[in-house]
Amino acid sequence: MKISRFVIPILIPLVSLVFFSGCQPAEKSPSTEKVLLISIDGFRHDYRQMYHTPNLDQFADEGSQAEFLIPVFPTKTFPNHYSIATGLYTENTGLVSNNMYDPEFDAYYSLADREAVQDARWYEGEPIWLTAEKQEIPAAPLFWPGSEAPIGGKYASYWSPYDEDLPYKARVDSVIHWLQMEGETAPGFMTLYFSKVDTYGHWYGPDSDSVAVALKEVDEHLGYLIEELNRIGKQDILNILIVSDHGMMEVSEERVILLDELIDLRDVEITDWAPVAAIRPKPGEKEYVFGKLKASEKNYTVYLKDDLPDRYGYKNHRRVSDIVLIADPGYTITSHKRLISADISGGTHGYDNREPEMRGIFMARGPSIKRDQKIGPVQNIHLYELMSHLLNIEPAFNDGSLDSLRQILK
Ligand code: AMP
Ligand code: ZN
Ligand code: ZN
Repeated sequence: MKISRFVIPILIPLVSLVFFSGCQPAEKSPSTEKVLLISIDGFRHDYRQMYHTPNLDQFADEGSQAEFLIPVFPTKTFPNHYSIATGLYTENTGLVSNNMYDPEFDAYYSLADREAVQDARWYEGEPIWLTAEKQEIPAAPLFWPGSEAPIGGKYASYWSPYDEDLPYKARVDSVIHWLQMEGETAPGFMTLYFSKVDTYGHWYGPDSDSVAVALKEVDEHLGYLIEELNRIGKQDILNILIVSDHGMMEVSEERVILLDELIDLRDVEITDWAPVAAIRPKPGEKEYVFGKLKASEKNYTVYLKDDLPDRYGYKNHRRVSDIVLIADPGYTITSHKRLISADISGGTHGYDNREPEMRGIFMARGPSIKRDQKIGPVQNIHLYELMSHLLNIEPAFNDGSLDSLRQILK
Protein backbone atom coordinates (compact mmCIF):
# COMPACT_ATOMS: atom_id res chain seq x y z
CA MET A 1 0.00 0.00 0.00
CA LYS A 2 1.43 3.33 -1.02
CA ILE A 3 1.22 6.01 1.63
CA SER A 4 2.01 9.62 0.93
CA ARG A 5 5.13 10.69 2.76
CA PHE A 6 3.92 14.24 2.98
CA VAL A 7 0.31 14.15 3.89
CA ILE A 8 -0.45 11.16 5.98
CA PRO A 9 1.52 12.25 9.05
CA ILE A 10 -0.39 15.50 9.28
CA LEU A 11 -3.82 14.12 8.64
CA ILE A 12 -5.96 14.25 11.68
CA PRO A 13 -8.05 11.11 11.93
CA LEU A 14 -10.89 11.85 14.24
CA VAL A 15 -13.85 10.03 13.15
CA SER A 16 -13.96 6.49 13.41
CA LEU A 17 -15.28 6.17 16.88
CA VAL A 18 -16.90 9.56 17.22
CA PHE A 19 -20.64 9.32 17.52
CA PHE A 20 -22.54 12.18 16.04
CA SER A 21 -25.11 13.48 18.44
CA GLY A 22 -28.15 14.84 16.67
CA CYS A 23 -27.43 12.60 13.73
CA GLN A 24 -30.50 11.39 11.93
CA PRO A 25 -30.61 7.67 11.24
CA ALA A 26 -29.73 7.20 7.57
CA GLU A 27 -32.83 6.58 5.53
CA LYS A 28 -30.82 5.31 2.62
CA SER A 29 -28.01 2.82 2.51
CA PRO A 30 -24.86 4.64 1.45
CA SER A 31 -23.55 3.97 -2.01
CA THR A 32 -20.67 1.59 -2.57
CA GLU A 33 -19.44 4.16 -5.07
CA LYS A 34 -17.23 6.98 -3.87
CA VAL A 35 -16.94 10.63 -4.89
CA LEU A 36 -13.78 12.65 -5.54
CA LEU A 37 -14.35 16.38 -5.98
CA ILE A 38 -11.43 18.20 -7.61
CA SER A 39 -11.12 21.98 -7.70
CA ILE A 40 -8.78 23.74 -10.09
CA ASP A 41 -8.93 27.26 -8.71
CA GLY A 42 -9.48 30.00 -11.29
CA PHE A 43 -9.84 27.66 -14.31
CA ARG A 44 -11.78 29.84 -16.73
CA HIS A 45 -14.35 28.04 -18.86
CA ASP A 46 -12.47 28.66 -22.12
CA TYR A 47 -8.95 27.69 -20.97
CA ARG A 48 -9.33 24.24 -22.50
CA GLN A 49 -9.76 25.84 -25.91
CA MET A 50 -6.89 28.27 -25.30
CA TYR A 51 -4.34 25.88 -23.81
CA HIS A 52 -3.07 22.32 -24.13
CA THR A 53 -4.74 20.07 -21.51
CA PRO A 54 -4.68 16.52 -22.92
CA ASN A 55 -5.62 14.68 -19.74
CA LEU A 56 -8.55 16.97 -18.99
CA ASP A 57 -9.71 16.61 -22.59
CA GLN A 58 -9.60 12.83 -22.35
CA PHE A 59 -11.38 12.96 -18.99
CA ALA A 60 -14.17 15.09 -20.50
CA ASP A 61 -14.51 12.76 -23.49
CA GLU A 62 -14.87 9.75 -21.22
CA GLY A 63 -17.51 11.46 -19.12
CA SER A 64 -19.87 14.42 -19.11
CA GLN A 65 -19.21 18.12 -19.28
CA ALA A 66 -21.19 21.33 -18.86
CA GLU A 67 -20.79 24.22 -21.27
CA PHE A 68 -19.62 26.18 -18.21
CA LEU A 69 -20.16 26.40 -14.46
CA ILE A 70 -21.90 29.53 -13.15
CA PRO A 71 -20.34 30.76 -9.90
CA VAL A 72 -22.14 32.43 -7.02
CA PHE A 73 -21.69 36.11 -6.24
CA PRO A 74 -19.11 37.39 -5.42
CA THR A 75 -16.92 35.32 -7.75
CA LYS A 76 -14.25 34.76 -5.12
CA THR A 77 -12.57 31.59 -3.90
CA PHE A 78 -14.00 30.96 -0.43
CA PRO A 79 -17.61 31.91 -1.19
CA ASN A 80 -17.64 29.66 -4.25
CA HIS A 81 -15.95 26.62 -2.78
CA TYR A 82 -18.23 26.75 0.21
CA SER A 83 -21.36 27.23 -1.93
CA ILE A 84 -20.33 24.20 -4.00
CA ALA A 85 -19.92 22.23 -0.76
CA THR A 86 -23.29 23.29 0.69
CA GLY A 87 -25.56 23.96 -2.32
CA LEU A 88 -26.37 27.35 -0.82
CA TYR A 89 -26.15 30.93 -2.08
CA THR A 90 -23.74 33.14 -0.18
CA GLU A 91 -26.56 34.84 1.77
CA ASN A 92 -27.29 31.39 3.21
CA THR A 93 -23.71 30.34 3.91
CA GLY A 94 -22.59 33.62 5.46
CA LEU A 95 -19.37 33.39 3.45
CA VAL A 96 -20.15 36.58 1.56
CA SER A 97 -16.52 37.25 0.62
CA ASN A 98 -12.90 36.25 1.23
CA ASN A 99 -12.72 39.27 3.55
CA MET A 100 -15.68 40.40 5.64
CA TYR A 101 -16.92 41.96 8.84
CA ASP A 102 -19.64 40.53 11.05
CA PRO A 103 -21.48 43.19 13.07
CA GLU A 104 -22.88 40.64 15.51
CA PHE A 105 -19.50 39.09 16.28
CA ASP A 106 -17.78 42.45 15.86
CA ALA A 107 -15.05 40.44 14.15
CA TYR A 108 -13.27 40.24 10.81
CA TYR A 109 -12.77 37.25 8.56
CA SER A 110 -10.05 36.86 5.99
CA LEU A 111 -8.83 33.77 4.17
CA ALA A 112 -5.33 34.72 5.22
CA ASP A 113 -6.31 34.73 8.91
CA ARG A 114 -5.72 31.17 10.11
CA GLU A 115 -7.70 31.66 13.30
CA ALA A 116 -10.77 32.98 11.49
CA VAL A 117 -10.62 30.31 8.78
CA GLN A 118 -10.66 27.62 11.49
CA ASP A 119 -13.51 29.23 13.43
CA ALA A 120 -16.77 27.39 12.74
CA ARG A 121 -19.07 30.30 13.57
CA TRP A 122 -18.31 31.85 10.17
CA TYR A 123 -19.68 28.87 8.21
CA GLU A 124 -23.44 28.38 7.95
CA GLY A 125 -25.22 25.53 6.16
CA GLU A 126 -24.11 21.92 5.99
CA PRO A 127 -21.16 21.03 3.78
CA ILE A 128 -21.29 17.74 1.92
CA TRP A 129 -18.55 16.20 4.08
CA LEU A 130 -20.71 16.72 7.16
CA THR A 131 -23.81 15.34 5.43
CA ALA A 132 -21.73 12.28 4.52
CA GLU A 133 -20.28 11.83 8.01
CA LYS A 134 -23.75 12.09 9.58
CA GLN A 135 -24.80 9.21 7.37
CA GLU A 136 -21.81 7.10 8.22
CA ILE A 137 -19.65 7.87 5.24
CA PRO A 138 -16.22 9.08 6.39
CA ALA A 139 -15.03 12.11 4.45
CA ALA A 140 -11.64 13.54 3.50
CA PRO A 141 -12.11 17.13 2.29
CA LEU A 142 -8.41 17.81 1.78
CA PHE A 143 -7.83 21.58 1.73
CA TRP A 144 -11.44 22.44 0.84
CA PRO A 145 -12.33 25.88 2.22
CA GLY A 146 -14.30 25.31 5.43
CA SER A 147 -12.80 21.89 6.11
CA GLU A 148 -10.49 23.25 8.80
CA ALA A 149 -13.38 24.33 11.03
CA PRO A 150 -15.57 22.06 13.19
CA ILE A 151 -18.78 23.01 11.39
CA GLY A 152 -21.84 21.81 13.30
CA GLY A 153 -19.38 20.80 16.04
CA LYS A 154 -17.65 18.16 13.89
CA TYR A 155 -14.56 17.81 11.80
CA ALA A 156 -14.47 15.45 8.87
CA SER A 157 -12.68 12.16 9.55
CA TYR A 158 -9.64 13.27 7.58
CA TRP A 159 -8.62 16.86 7.08
CA SER A 160 -5.49 18.89 7.14
CA PRO A 161 -4.55 22.54 7.76
CA TYR A 162 -4.11 24.29 4.43
CA ASP A 163 -0.57 23.99 3.12
CA GLU A 164 -0.08 25.73 -0.19
CA ASP A 165 3.38 24.17 -0.52
CA LEU A 166 2.27 20.58 -0.28
CA PRO A 167 3.34 19.09 -3.64
CA TYR A 168 0.52 18.14 -5.95
CA LYS A 169 1.81 14.58 -6.21
CA ALA A 170 1.52 14.17 -2.44
CA ARG A 171 -2.09 15.37 -2.60
CA VAL A 172 -2.93 12.80 -5.27
CA ASP A 173 -1.09 10.12 -3.27
CA SER A 174 -3.32 10.86 -0.27
CA VAL A 175 -6.40 10.14 -2.35
CA ILE A 176 -4.87 6.95 -3.69
CA HIS A 177 -4.08 5.93 -0.12
CA TRP A 178 -7.65 6.63 1.01
CA LEU A 179 -9.04 4.63 -1.90
CA GLN A 180 -7.01 1.63 -0.84
CA MET A 181 -8.40 1.68 2.68
CA GLU A 182 -10.99 -0.94 3.54
CA GLY A 183 -13.73 -1.10 6.16
CA GLU A 184 -15.68 1.48 8.09
CA THR A 185 -12.96 4.10 8.26
CA ALA A 186 -12.39 4.25 4.49
CA PRO A 187 -13.48 7.64 3.13
CA GLY A 188 -16.35 7.70 0.64
CA PHE A 189 -15.99 11.41 -0.12
CA MET A 190 -12.66 13.08 -0.91
CA THR A 191 -11.43 16.34 -2.39
CA LEU A 192 -8.36 17.68 -4.14
CA TYR A 193 -7.47 21.33 -4.53
CA PHE A 194 -4.96 23.00 -6.89
CA SER A 195 -4.33 26.75 -6.64
CA LYS A 196 -1.60 27.44 -9.19
CA VAL A 197 -3.78 28.22 -12.22
CA ASP A 198 -5.46 30.96 -10.16
CA THR A 199 -2.16 32.27 -8.77
CA TYR A 200 -0.55 32.57 -12.21
CA GLY A 201 -3.78 34.02 -13.61
CA HIS A 202 -3.50 36.79 -10.98
CA TRP A 203 0.19 37.44 -11.53
CA TYR A 204 0.39 37.26 -15.31
CA GLY A 205 -3.20 37.46 -16.58
CA PRO A 206 -5.42 34.83 -18.17
CA ASP A 207 -3.64 35.10 -21.54
CA SER A 208 -0.12 34.19 -20.50
CA ASP A 209 2.48 31.50 -20.95
CA SER A 210 2.55 31.17 -17.17
CA VAL A 211 -1.08 30.05 -17.08
CA ALA A 212 -0.12 27.46 -19.70
CA VAL A 213 2.66 26.23 -17.37
CA ALA A 214 0.31 25.98 -14.37
CA LEU A 215 -2.31 24.18 -16.46
CA LYS A 216 0.29 21.71 -17.68
CA GLU A 217 1.27 20.90 -14.11
CA VAL A 218 -2.32 20.35 -13.00
CA ASP A 219 -3.15 18.39 -16.14
CA GLU A 220 -0.16 16.10 -15.59
CA HIS A 221 -1.32 15.42 -12.05
CA LEU A 222 -4.75 14.51 -13.33
CA GLY A 223 -2.97 12.07 -15.66
CA TYR A 224 -1.04 10.69 -12.69
CA LEU A 225 -4.27 10.29 -10.68
CA ILE A 226 -5.94 8.34 -13.49
CA GLU A 227 -2.86 6.13 -13.93
CA GLU A 228 -2.77 5.36 -10.22
CA LEU A 229 -6.50 4.67 -10.17
CA ASN A 230 -6.07 2.15 -12.92
CA ARG A 231 -3.10 0.61 -11.15
CA ILE A 232 -5.07 0.03 -7.94
CA GLY A 233 -8.17 -1.00 -9.90
CA LYS A 234 -10.54 1.55 -8.36
CA GLN A 235 -11.70 3.40 -11.47
CA ASP A 236 -15.02 1.56 -11.45
CA ILE A 237 -16.04 2.66 -7.98
CA LEU A 238 -15.02 6.31 -8.14
CA ASN A 239 -17.07 9.18 -9.54
CA ILE A 240 -14.78 12.14 -10.14
CA LEU A 241 -16.12 15.69 -10.45
CA ILE A 242 -13.81 18.44 -11.68
CA VAL A 243 -14.84 22.03 -11.01
CA SER A 244 -13.45 25.52 -10.84
CA ASP A 245 -14.67 28.23 -8.53
CA HIS A 246 -14.60 31.15 -11.01
CA GLY A 247 -12.76 32.45 -14.06
CA MET A 248 -10.20 35.22 -14.50
CA MET A 249 -10.13 38.61 -16.19
CA GLU A 250 -7.32 40.89 -17.22
CA VAL A 251 -6.89 44.06 -15.16
CA SER A 252 -4.82 47.16 -15.88
CA GLU A 253 -3.74 50.35 -14.15
CA GLU A 254 -5.55 52.11 -16.98
CA ARG A 255 -8.82 50.84 -15.52
CA VAL A 256 -9.05 52.01 -11.92
CA ILE A 257 -11.76 53.54 -9.76
CA LEU A 258 -10.13 55.87 -7.26
CA LEU A 259 -12.50 55.91 -4.31
CA ASP A 260 -10.74 58.76 -2.53
CA GLU A 261 -11.57 61.01 -5.49
CA LEU A 262 -15.26 60.22 -5.00
CA ILE A 263 -15.74 60.26 -1.23
CA ASP A 264 -13.88 61.19 1.91
CA LEU A 265 -12.50 57.87 3.09
CA ARG A 266 -12.72 59.09 6.70
CA ASP A 267 -16.52 58.77 6.40
CA VAL A 268 -16.33 55.02 5.83
CA GLU A 269 -14.65 51.75 6.64
CA ILE A 270 -13.83 49.55 3.67
CA THR A 271 -13.64 45.89 4.62
CA ASP A 272 -13.09 44.55 1.11
CA TRP A 273 -11.79 46.52 -1.87
CA ALA A 274 -11.88 44.93 -5.27
CA PRO A 275 -13.61 44.24 -7.48
CA VAL A 276 -16.51 44.43 -5.03
CA ALA A 277 -16.01 47.13 -2.39
CA ALA A 278 -17.74 46.51 0.93
CA ILE A 279 -18.32 50.00 2.31
CA ARG A 280 -19.42 50.61 5.90
CA PRO A 281 -20.37 54.25 6.33
CA LYS A 282 -19.81 55.81 9.74
CA PRO A 283 -23.06 56.41 11.68
CA GLY A 284 -25.26 59.00 9.98
CA GLU A 285 -23.17 59.06 6.77
CA LYS A 286 -24.93 56.37 4.74
CA GLU A 287 -27.21 58.53 2.57
CA TYR A 288 -24.52 61.14 2.03
CA VAL A 289 -21.83 58.66 0.99
CA PHE A 290 -24.22 56.71 -1.21
CA GLY A 291 -25.42 59.93 -2.87
CA LYS A 292 -21.85 60.93 -3.72
CA LEU A 293 -21.02 57.51 -5.16
CA LYS A 294 -24.28 57.35 -7.12
CA ALA A 295 -23.73 60.80 -8.58
CA SER A 296 -20.30 59.75 -9.94
CA GLU A 297 -21.34 56.29 -11.08
CA LYS A 298 -18.94 55.42 -13.90
CA ASN A 299 -17.20 52.09 -14.53
CA TYR A 300 -19.04 50.67 -11.52
CA THR A 301 -22.50 50.19 -10.07
CA VAL A 302 -23.21 51.21 -6.49
CA TYR A 303 -26.03 49.78 -4.38
CA LEU A 304 -27.57 50.27 -1.02
CA LYS A 305 -27.66 46.81 0.50
CA ASP A 306 -31.44 46.38 0.20
CA ASP A 307 -31.37 47.27 -3.49
CA LEU A 308 -28.78 44.68 -4.51
CA PRO A 309 -30.20 42.38 -7.21
CA ASP A 310 -31.97 39.31 -5.80
CA ARG A 311 -30.31 37.16 -8.45
CA TYR A 312 -27.00 37.42 -6.60
CA GLY A 313 -28.43 35.45 -3.66
CA TYR A 314 -26.19 37.67 -1.57
CA LYS A 315 -27.88 40.64 0.08
CA ASN A 316 -29.79 38.91 2.87
CA HIS A 317 -26.99 38.48 5.34
CA ARG A 318 -25.80 40.75 8.11
CA ARG A 319 -22.21 40.47 6.82
CA VAL A 320 -23.11 42.31 3.60
CA SER A 321 -22.19 45.97 4.09
CA ASP A 322 -24.66 48.89 3.84
CA ILE A 323 -23.12 50.09 0.58
CA VAL A 324 -21.72 47.74 -2.05
CA LEU A 325 -19.84 49.02 -5.08
CA ILE A 326 -19.30 46.57 -7.91
CA ALA A 327 -16.64 47.37 -10.49
CA ASP A 328 -17.36 46.85 -14.19
CA PRO A 329 -15.42 43.93 -15.69
CA GLY A 330 -11.71 44.61 -15.83
CA TYR A 331 -11.82 47.56 -13.40
CA THR A 332 -10.09 47.74 -10.02
CA ILE A 333 -11.37 49.72 -7.04
CA THR A 334 -8.53 51.42 -5.20
CA SER A 335 -7.24 54.73 -3.80
CA HIS A 336 -4.18 56.89 -4.45
CA LYS A 337 -2.60 55.58 -1.27
CA ARG A 338 -3.18 51.94 -2.15
CA LEU A 339 -1.86 52.50 -5.67
CA ILE A 340 1.58 53.33 -4.28
CA SER A 341 2.10 49.77 -3.07
CA ALA A 342 -0.20 47.87 -5.43
CA ASP A 343 0.78 46.70 -8.85
CA ILE A 344 -2.40 46.58 -10.91
CA SER A 345 -1.65 44.15 -13.70
CA GLY A 346 -2.34 40.53 -14.51
CA GLY A 347 -5.80 39.28 -13.69
CA THR A 348 -8.52 39.08 -11.11
CA HIS A 349 -12.02 37.79 -10.40
CA GLY A 350 -14.86 38.69 -8.09
CA TYR A 351 -17.03 40.50 -10.67
CA ASP A 352 -20.72 39.91 -11.40
CA ASN A 353 -21.32 36.18 -11.74
CA ARG A 354 -23.06 36.77 -15.09
CA GLU A 355 -19.84 37.98 -16.70
CA PRO A 356 -18.55 35.44 -19.24
CA GLU A 357 -14.99 35.80 -17.94
CA MET A 358 -16.12 34.67 -14.47
CA ARG A 359 -17.42 31.32 -15.70
CA GLY A 360 -15.79 28.16 -14.46
CA ILE A 361 -15.75 24.52 -15.55
CA PHE A 362 -17.59 21.37 -14.63
CA MET A 363 -16.88 17.87 -15.88
CA ALA A 364 -17.46 14.44 -14.39
CA ARG A 365 -16.48 10.85 -15.04
CA GLY A 366 -17.19 7.57 -13.30
CA PRO A 367 -19.45 4.55 -12.97
CA SER A 368 -22.65 6.61 -12.53
CA ILE A 369 -21.79 9.25 -15.14
CA LYS A 370 -22.66 9.04 -18.82
CA ARG A 371 -19.87 9.01 -21.36
CA ASP A 372 -19.56 11.64 -24.04
CA GLN A 373 -22.38 13.78 -22.69
CA LYS A 374 -22.46 17.56 -23.13
CA ILE A 375 -24.94 19.70 -21.25
CA GLY A 376 -25.65 23.42 -21.03
CA PRO A 377 -24.51 25.83 -18.31
CA VAL A 378 -24.91 24.65 -14.70
CA GLN A 379 -25.03 26.74 -11.53
CA ASN A 380 -22.53 25.54 -8.97
CA ILE A 381 -25.13 25.44 -6.14
CA HIS A 382 -26.58 22.32 -7.80
CA LEU A 383 -23.48 20.19 -7.25
CA TYR A 384 -24.34 19.48 -3.62
CA GLU A 385 -27.48 17.64 -4.74
CA LEU A 386 -25.46 15.74 -7.33
CA MET A 387 -22.88 14.63 -4.77
CA SER A 388 -25.62 13.58 -2.33
CA HIS A 389 -27.21 11.57 -5.11
CA LEU A 390 -23.94 9.87 -6.05
CA LEU A 391 -23.27 8.98 -2.41
CA ASN A 392 -26.90 7.92 -2.01
CA ILE A 393 -27.34 10.06 1.10
CA GLU A 394 -30.12 12.38 2.19
CA PRO A 395 -29.15 15.99 1.38
CA ALA A 396 -29.57 18.73 3.98
CA PHE A 397 -31.68 21.77 3.11
CA ASN A 398 -30.09 23.62 0.19
CA ASP A 399 -30.80 26.04 -2.68
CA GLY A 400 -29.95 23.59 -5.47
CA SER A 401 -31.64 20.85 -7.43
CA LEU A 402 -30.60 17.83 -9.45
CA ASP A 403 -32.71 18.89 -12.44
CA SER A 404 -30.02 20.52 -14.58
CA LEU A 405 -27.69 17.56 -13.95
CA ARG A 406 -29.93 14.53 -14.39
CA GLN A 407 -28.87 14.22 -18.01
CA ILE A 408 -25.34 13.28 -17.02
CA LEU A 409 -26.46 10.38 -14.85
CA LYS A 410 -26.60 6.83 -16.15
P1 AMP B 1 -8.55 34.42 -4.16
O1 AMP B 1 -8.09 35.58 -3.33
O2 AMP B 1 -10.03 34.36 -4.24
O3 AMP B 1 -7.89 34.39 -5.47
O4 AMP B 1 -8.08 33.12 -3.36
C1 AMP B 1 -7.20 32.16 -3.88
C2 AMP B 1 -6.15 31.82 -2.87
O5 AMP B 1 -6.76 31.18 -1.76
C3 AMP B 1 -5.12 30.82 -3.38
O6 AMP B 1 -3.90 31.48 -3.60
C4 AMP B 1 -4.99 29.79 -2.30
O7 AMP B 1 -3.66 29.57 -1.91
C5 AMP B 1 -5.80 30.37 -1.15
N1 AMP B 1 -6.47 29.32 -0.41
C6 AMP B 1 -7.16 28.30 -0.91
N2 AMP B 1 -7.63 27.48 0.05
C7 AMP B 1 -7.23 28.02 1.21
C8 AMP B 1 -7.39 27.65 2.58
N3 AMP B 1 -8.08 26.55 2.90
N4 AMP B 1 -6.86 28.46 3.51
C9 AMP B 1 -6.18 29.57 3.15
N5 AMP B 1 -5.98 29.96 1.89
C10 AMP B 1 -6.49 29.20 0.92
ZN1 ZN C 1 -10.48 30.96 -6.59
ZN1 ZN D 1 -7.92 34.14 -7.21
